[in-house]
Amino acid sequence: MAKPKIATDWLGGCAGCHMSLLDIDERIVALLELVELTSSPVTDLKHPPEEGVAVGVLEGAINNTVNLRVARQMRQRCKTLVALGDCAVFGGVPAMRNAFTTKEALERAYITSESTVDGKVPQDPELGRLTKRCCSVGEMVPVDVNLPGCPPSADAIFNTLSALLEGRAANPTGDDLKYD
Ligand code: SF4
Repeated sequence: MAKPKIATDWLGGCAGCHMSLLDIDERIVALLELVELTSSPVTDLKHPPEEGVAVGVLEGAINNTVNLRVARQMRQRCKTLVALGDCAVFGGVPAMRNAFTTKEALERAYITSESTVDGKVPQDPELGRLTKRCCSVGEMVPVDVNLPGCPPSADAIFNTLSALLEGRAANPTGDDLKYD
């Protein structure tokens, strides 16, 4: 029998949620024996997942047009979509830019910041355009499971993925449910 497919991707955020996913340690080996990982930042497979994915996991917030495209593709191709981490669940740290206009946010990041390199807002179309607001994944596409935390613990991620792969409801509770 074909193994269920899992796809993961990250949007606007840091690598912390993915590090927590990898902290599952040896249990990830057992998990990977049960599934086929079709797309993951860890494997550098940045293309969108193929059709027929059982569980899609999105980390990070929707901050630009590329993030939005990836989120829509994941929703379209994954039976169950998990928003992983505070940024994905409610916007988290990247949503702090919502206190500013996009123009102000870009100027602060690239022109007036002390870490500015050459004082220009990048125009590379590959980067996508900043969306008017930074949004949670659920604001833009329907999400089946929200797993908050910055980052969620490895146990919470393992428990959620195991439940989904075994066809059980994944409703994070107790120690698995935390907002940072
Ligand atoms: Fe990083 Fe925290 Fe956002 Fe995860 S929730 S991407 S750890 S800032």
